[in-house]
Amino acid sequence: MQPPVSEARDSLEERYSRQVLFAGIGEEGQRRLLASSAVIVGCGAIGAAAAGLLVRAGVGRIRILDRDFVEPSNLQRQSLFDESDARDSLPKAAAAQHKLRAINSSIHIEGVVADLSPRNAEELLSGFDLLLDGTDNFETRLLVNDFAVHAARPWIYAAAVASYGVLLAIRPGQTACLACLLDSASNGHGLEETCDTVGVLGPVVNLIASLEVAEALKLISCDVWTGRFQSLRVGRNPTCRACARREFTYLSGESQPHITMCGRDSVQIHERSRSLDLEALRQRLTATVSDLRQNDFLLTFRVELYQMTVFADGRAILKGTKDPAVARSLYARYIGS
Ligand SMILES: [Zn+2]
Repeated sequence: MQPPVSEARDSLEERYSRQVLFAGIGEEGQRRLLASSAVIVGCGAIGAAAAGLLVRAGVGRIRILDRDFVEPSNLQRQSLFDESDARDSLPKAAAAQHKLRAINSSIHIEGVVADLSPRNAEELLSGFDLLLDGTDNFETRLLVNDFAVHAARPWIYAAAVASYGVLLAIRPGQTACLACLLDSASNGHGLEETCDTVGVLGPVVNLIASLEVAEALKLISCDVWTGRFQSLRVGRNPTCRACARREFTYLSGESQPHITMCGRDSVQIHERSRSLDLEALRQRLTATVSDLRQNDFLLTFRVELYQMTVFADGRAILKGTKDPAVARSLYARYIGS
């Protein structure tokens, strides 16, 4: 039986009461949060922790995009996932949707298993008030930056490796954008390090995710409580490719290679604009490969020293090599060219 409307409203007030009591948000700010929407690009450590906090805070509509699946090495820091997700090779977006809906059933939560690319950026990112960075690479971040500057949407850049992290809230036209920041960095030192090469501590990713969500709540609830952690001051670059010259090379796809590095010792072959029949593929492969497993989203198997995971959109992640030529030939041999 549905509770009466007044009872539902009372329980909603109860749910957010400690946040409403905080003067920086109040009832008006909470109403804005419930009426707002955010898309989290990438659901690794930072994305998963940020998603949990946004869902609990009551942001009304949340989309989580991720291309990857849960593995045992994620569990040390990716706070939404557990051993059964890793055992089942569940896509992170699907596992996150399941967990987040159990945390807050009164808002709209959608997990999308997809690889963000210039081809689908418009479709996947449009219509949200705010974009949050949960990715692990600059190619995707620069694509998000291009989209955000082009569409005049605020977004928050967040990253953590080893024991340190970076956070920058970007309001197109008002603050520096990510392209301003990367161009003004005197050298690229630190940018090439990833958690797959130098590791990362769980407390650091959760700290950065917390700061990212604090920035998000500020942007959405229009409050200006002090961010005492902010120490980065980046000036806008008057000749910035993205926010001054408006050359959106990442959004137009001019910058995207077909094969990209994807974590330690693995590469991703981007979708070939076609969908795969995973069940037919499973039947075809069953005699030639080992460890063949399938769920609603992907098919994974071992062949020689490699583990290959194929998604329904034609994309594949190949673990055990960094060599694009090896990846291309295995893809052609087992999936098709
Ligand atoms: Zn810029």
